[in-house]
Amino acid sequence: MDQQRFVIEASEAESMASDSGLTLIQLLPSLVKSAQSLARPPISNYHVGAIGFGSSGRIFLGVNLEFPGLPLHHSVHAEQFLVTNLSINAEPHLDYLVVSAAPCGHCRQFLQEIRGAQNIKLLITSDGHDKFNTLSHFLSHRFGPDDLLDKEVPLLLEPHHNGLSFLREILILSNGICNGYSSQVDDKLKIEALEAANKSHAPYSGSPSGVALMDNEGKIYKGSYMESAAYNPSLGPVQAALVAYVAGGGGDYHKIVAAALVEKHGALVKQEQTAKLLLQSISPNCEFNAFHCSSASVALDNCKKA
Ligand SMILES: [Zn+2]
Repeated sequence: MDQQRFVIEASEAESMASDSGLTLIQLLPSLVKSAQSLARPPISNYHVGAIGFGSSGRIFLGVNLEFPGLPLHHSVHAEQFLVTNLSINAEPHLDYLVVSAAPCGHCRQFLQEIRGAQNIKLLITSDGHDKFNTLSHFLSHRFGPDDLLDKEVPLLLEPHHNGLSFLREILILSNGICNGYSSQVDDKLKIEALEAANKSHAPYSGSPSGVALMDNEGKIYKGSYMESAAYNPSLGPVQAALVAYVAGGGGDYHKIVAAALVEKHGALVKQEQTAKLLLQSISPNCEFNAFHCSSASVALDNCKKA
């Protein structure tokens, strides 16, 4: 398997399984070690690999990311990376999950944002057996979206249309300098970050956000903020974009040269300062801009009056 790939298409997964004389589900644990080798944990040196099997028949990889120089809560766990990877690739559901070590409580909670999470089948390879158990076996008596949201509110991996727009945009150049990137680049990143914000899962705070990153070759990677019913396991938009960066073949974080954050003007939950802090720490050459926009309803009211 190509060491740098984080998504295996359904047809390839099928031929990998049949070549090995395995079923697709039996194939999953055999991929965990190669996922572990892609982890970036410079603080703990503890490599976690996660393999997910989606309802489309595709296989996804997840790894842990740690960021020296910052508090530990900025870290991305392999299971969160995996769910972000599914989300980026518009995978409708996670059916099977295999991880190299027992998922921490934080990840068991984060996974609750997926509809029917209780029935996701989970296998831990370090346990030394090949028996899948449901997620409800690992987290019984759960607290989750059902406790806070109406049933029709979209959950993680379901389509989100947050209706943010730039009709009443307020632009803040956070670092106060323009170091040579053309406004065309700014516009492109801004539009990509807006698209990510519109796919954000933020039903608890009503504060969706998205980040787009650009590397020194002009390639763009974007990620959406994802909330947890239990708040603290939520994954920030920069972390989500960094998952896209790593999964998309991005190298050293120093190669990230520009970033745009889109969030709502006056949002209850704001990402700007944290996003800036994280990017300044890992990508010191990155020009960071935050764009604050209106929600569709406000914009629509504005249109009607005009
Ligand atoms: Zn975890």
